[in-house]
Amino acid sequence: MVRKLAAGNWKMNGTGASLAEAEALRAALPAPTVDVLICPPATLLSRLSDTLSGSAIATGGQDCHAAETGAHTGDISAAMLADAGASHVILGHSERRTDHGETDAEVRAKAKAAIAAGLTAVICVGETLAGREAANTLSIIGGQLAGSVPDLVSADRLVIAYEPVWAIGTGKVPTLHQIGEVHDFIRAELEKRFGVGVGRAVPILYGGSVKGANAAEIFAVSNVNGALVGGASLRAVDFLPIVEALQAS
Ligand code: PEP
Repeated sequence: MVRKLAAGNWKMNGTGASLAEAEALRAALPAPTVDVLICPPATLLSRLSDTLSGSAIATGGQDCHAAETGAHTGDISAAMLADAGASHVILGHSERRTDHGETDAEVRAKAKAAIAAGLTAVICVGETLAGREAANTLSIIGGQLAGSVPDLVSADRLVIAYEPVWAIGTGKVPTLHQIGEVHDFIRAELEKRFGVGVGRAVPILYGGSVKGANAAEIFAVSNVNGALVGGASLRAVDFLPIVEALQAS
């Protein structure tokens, strides 16, 4: 059985005051029936992990370096994330691919480092609007999967997030048919590469303008096993209905 995951990506948002949102989430979700994850900015990771310690809500980073240690000013290693309480790390988010020019090969190296440090890598893939309009969506996703996902992963160390770049933070959402087409394709690619056992057990999240109002219909699409949520994960009152929709799906 594939595990369901509701993951929040706080991006570059949040200070100590935001821990109250995590407290509210914890109080509202004493025993969630799906996996729940919050990825705060690095400055909050340790405090958030402490806040959520003993709860069923996990914490994660938003990026890591491929090296274990060294002269990389401003960077954070996977082991450091784990030391700060993280169990997951988002890798290859389109904002990092755009803002920092991250390539598939770099994402793959980071994912290898993350898995070696005991983390679960949440690897993001997604087409631009130009890519979709040129009818290249599946070839783009296939290339990103082949290039970004490392070999020899076990299902519990990998999550794939399909995030169309044009849907992130825009309020635009693909049709349910478009989401299903890509998720079915990702599932087939994972099964081809890793075999049915591993390929069927890797959660595939949809990300891009997910809200309480559209979550249930998205979670009903085939091979959608949860969501990676940006804006609507910042406040418990917005994130909770998404978690509840996933629990009900
Ligand atoms: C994201 O950044 O991963 C994301 C999906 O953002 P939003 O939910 O705000 O579109």
